[in-house]
Amino acid sequence: MKCPYCSCDDSKVINSRPSDDGSAIRRRRECLSCARRFTTYERAQLEPLMVVKRAGVRQAFNPDKLLRGLMLASEKRPIPPETLRAFAYSFEDEVGAPEITSNEVGLRAMSFLRPLDDVAYIRFASVYREFDSVEHFLEEIKGLQNDG
Ligand SMILES: [Zn+2]
Repeated sequence: MKCPYCSCDDSKVINSRPSDDGSAIRRRRECLSCARRFTTYERAQLEPLMVVKRAGVRQAFNPDKLLRGLMLASEKRPIPPETLRAFAYSFEDEVGAPEITSNEVGLRAMSFLRPLDDVAYIRFASVYREFDSVEHFLEEIKGLQNDG
């Protein structure tokens, strides 16, 4: 950390404590060259995963929203809520890219649900895929039955 007075690179930390609102660590430093004191703040930098919607609109990924969708689809189905929660909250890390299309979010969620529960999968798919016809929807169900 460069000293703001003399630009020396070396300083020692005199004390460090959380800022009043807890969102940062405040460090009091002393320059090893000019001995002047200054304060630095260390903050977590949030760079949220961006979801690109069909119209090209970008929106920060919201794990709660994904979890809500998964929970609705899994209502009264034998999927432990922790399993859904773990998926939703590790999603951002799993993607490991700065952005993802909303379609891809849906597809990933579907391939996560599919081996867990057919009903939850179909419910989720029907929302995300926006089946254009009843026939299309029925084909999907038939596909599941053939698999199983
Ligand atoms: Zn200095």
